[in-house]
Amino acid sequence: MSDSERGGGGAEGRKKRRRGAPANPSREERRPKMSESRDDANAAGAAGPPSSAPDPAAQSPASPPPPLPAPPSGASEAPGPDAGASSSTPLPIPHELAILPLKEAVLFPMTAMPLTVGRKRSLKLVDEQVVAGKIIGTVTQLRADVEEPTEADLRKIGTATSIAKMFKLRDGSARILAQGIQRFRILEILRADPYFVARIETIADVIEDPQTAEALKRTVGELFIKVLSMMANLPDELPNMVSSMEHPGKLADFVAGNLPISSEEKQDLLDTFVVEARLKKLTTILNRELRVLEIGTKIQEEAKKEIDKKGREMFLREQLKAIREELGEGDDQVALLKELKEKIDAAKMPPEADKVARDELKRLESMNPGAAEYSVSRTYVEWLASLPWSVSTEDNLDIRAARKILDDDHYDLEKVKERILEYLAVLKLRKDLKGPILCFVGPPGVGKTSLGRSIARAIGRKFIRISLGGVRDEAEIRGHRRTYVGALPGRVIQSLKKAGARNPVFMLDEVDKLGADFRGDPSAALLEVLDPEQNSTFSDHYLEVPFDLSHVLFIATANMLDTIPPALRDRLEILRLPGYTEEEKIGIARRHLVPKQLKEHGLPSGHVRFAKEALARIIRDYTRENGLRNLEREIANICRKVARELAEGKPRPTNGKLPPRVIESEDVRKMLGPEKFFREVAERTSEAGVATGLAWTPVGGEVLFVEATRMDGSKSFTVTGQLGDVMRESALAALSCVRNRARKLGIDPDIFQKSDIHLHVPAGAVPKDGPSAGITMAVALVSLLTKKPVRSDVAMTGEITLRGKVLPVGGIKEKVLAALRAGIKAVILPERNETDLEEIDATLRKELRFHFVSSIDDVLKRAFDAPQRRKKRGSGSRPGPARRPARGARRPDEPKRPRSSPPAAASPPPSAPPTRRRPTRPQPRL
Ligand code: ADP
Repeated sequence: MSDSERGGGGAEGRKKRRRGAPANPSREERRPKMSESRDDANAAGAAGPPSSAPDPAAQSPASPPPPLPAPPSGASEAPGPDAGASSSTPLPIPHELAILPLKEAVLFPMTAMPLTVGRKRSLKLVDEQVVAGKIIGTVTQLRADVEEPTEADLRKIGTATSIAKMFKLRDGSARILAQGIQRFRILEILRADPYFVARIETIADVIEDPQTAEALKRTVGELFIKVLSMMANLPDELPNMVSSMEHPGKLADFVAGNLPISSEEKQDLLDTFVVEARLKKLTTILNRELRVLEIGTKIQEEAKKEIDKKGREMFLREQLKAIREELGEGDDQVALLKELKEKIDAAKMPPEADKVARDELKRLESMNPGAAEYSVSRTYVEWLASLPWSVSTEDNLDIRAARKILDDDHYDLEKVKERILEYLAVLKLRKDLKGPILCFVGPPGVGKTSLGRSIARAIGRKFIRISLGGVRDEAEIRGHRRTYVGALPGRVIQSLKKAGARNPVFMLDEVDKLGADFRGDPSAALLEVLDPEQNSTFSDHYLEVPFDLSHVLFIATANMLDTIPPALRDRLEILRLPGYTEEEKIGIARRHLVPKQLKEHGLPSGHVRFAKEALARIIRDYTRENGLRNLEREIANICRKVARELAEGKPRPTNGKLPPRVIESEDVRKMLGPEKFFREVAERTSEAGVATGLAWTPVGGEVLFVEATRMDGSKSFTVTGQLGDVMRESALAALSCVRNRARKLGIDPDIFQKSDIHLHVPAGAVPKDGPSAGITMAVALVSLLTKKPVRSDVAMTGEITLRGKVLPVGGIKEKVLAALRAGIKAVILPERNETDLEEIDATLRKELRFHFVSSIDDVLKRAFDAPQRRKKRGSGSRPGPARRPARGARRPDEPKRPRSSPPAAASPPPSAPPTRRRPTRPQPRL
């Protein structure tokens, strides 16, 4: 048997009540009011939550209260122990009341409460009494868990109650709306079946001191409103209602009935008849509740703050996302970040870089795409993700195949190729690149870059190249810090990105042109790049994380050695490519340059052929260089013209076949116009006072002329031609030396007294310096003063002392090649330079006669030697009159060559030949 009128004092009950506002007390305070509290519903689902309880009073506060039942007829009214101090009028309550036991709930006078009735006895009571409209008594059980209470289980004080409404529910239980009327005390249980009926006496409120009671009433009223306001949304009229309740006892009961306190406390309040005492107890309870609520609120606020803090970022992100979506940026943004993440995943970076990239990506996610910092951050992540951290190409270290590729691409260069193959062999065995860095040194166009390309092709690596010419800022190598606007990584890292592999062949062009100034020393950064001990953790300022360069095969190139910073030079293994002779150039042109240019111009290779003579003519008359750039350019020039002929339908195909087109020597003249250079040595030296010298420049050897002239005058000696100090001193030394030997040489010693002598070294616009023109100047002076022309097929180089000794000079190989190019047949060299000839190919050496001299006397002997020796050697035929340009043809423009040669013009000061002082400007050395 299970029925209940369970008290609502449990935790669940309290919680539920806390949510709702109390029943609105009527303005007419005498009217019993209904609390939203409910007694428990034992039968599941029998009662809804308080708010949904049938509560007419709560639902419509303005509606009239339910009618109070009339006292049962014939029943005498119970005498109350009202001492007359109460201001309330006792209602007519019968002396005998049917008692409805409540499990937990305590019903107070002045309150209404929905109750679910489930117990059989209680249902019987409801059926008989309530239906008859009788007043009943509600009494709370001592223990809520007693299903079948006996007399002993009932409390003695209860509340006379009228039932305003009753609903029968489907499960047989009933729902009633009970309204407390007045306290009573059970005097005696008259019977227990079918339900309890008791004899009772009503109890009226006792007020001992009305003022105290009033004061307490106000306090309780205020506290109650405070408590309620903290519990739930307070109906606006509630404060008014509470303060308008006049009777302190009724206010106390109203408050007690609506407080979420235990049934024990409630019962205690019900048992307290003296109003002041009841109000005092309530004050304590309310203060306690207030405190509890305050603490609760504080806890809640703190918890909220904590949640806020954590949730804030999340919340903001969500908001940001929503805003971006609203702006139509959301998808792009998300897609971009996703793409970046995928790139990072794919890049397989080392852990350090990976972490940096992912952290930056996280930062990016929370950034506004419109912010300047966003693009900086994004570019950074993109850089990190796009570098070849773990991408390598596979090496093909088949030395024979490499040899073949090098031979296919390059003519001759035996020594250099041998060294490259040795290098690759070591790489194959050691599998690392800890050896020295190869550095190709030579004039422009001799194949340094193309050798690098061939090496890359031979071992199957990517090829990249950066030019260091004019690099003065360390940041160009190492990058700018990200704090700079528009910062980027340095050129090393940029090139690696371009290569897309971490082990390319990396050519550092023009290391000799590296500068240094207040922006830092790029060579120091380059050292780090090249040093195998350091370059595995190369740090670029922009990247901030180290990048491993140890797999890169570096190759350097330079035009000259002297200007390479010593520390850098120390790391380099020098391979010289001094330039090519005419024969070699013809060979290279036939095998490489012509086929390459024909292909580039879309000409069928079988169709066009260059005659050897034609190539020789281009080389002699249209180029003057150690390398092949201009030759290649002129060949391309001819190819263009042939392509045009072909496109214009010339020559016509015969039998559907194109007749072969052979470029002859005459075609060259027609196609390329007048010669750009011609051999002028013989012409220049045909007059007395001119001597042919050999100079060294960063772009190769050079033939220069020293001219001397004499005017009547008074002993002055003028030197012109933009000569540096060393060269001027050299000129003075030469003059003194000649004067000293005047008599011996058959020169009138007095001539110096009455002459002004002028020495000039064309081209006058090109600065020159160095001591190696000493003997040339002396020879020019002797020629002038003896009026004997110098041999036209002899060129010379050497430093002179006052005593007429000849000292060694540098750049012999380049000077010899220049002499050959100029059609010189004999070269006068200082004796101590004889060993330098070993560097020169034997076949080349055979083309020239070398006179090694130790004193000016030897020089003069060779420079003015008898002409029959020339005939005997067949010399002089090449630079003979037949080769000279017609008078009126363009004047040989000697200065043009060095001036128009970009490496000479743009290059920083070339050095003197290795044994000499360094000049300060780009100057040919004599
Ligand atoms: P550098 O880097 O020394 O200034 P390049 O490598 O650019 O010179 O060479 C210029 C041109 O000459 C290229 O087309 C190159 O192929 C060609 N060349 C140079 N030397 C040789 C050689 N020994 N064999 C074949 N071609 C060569």
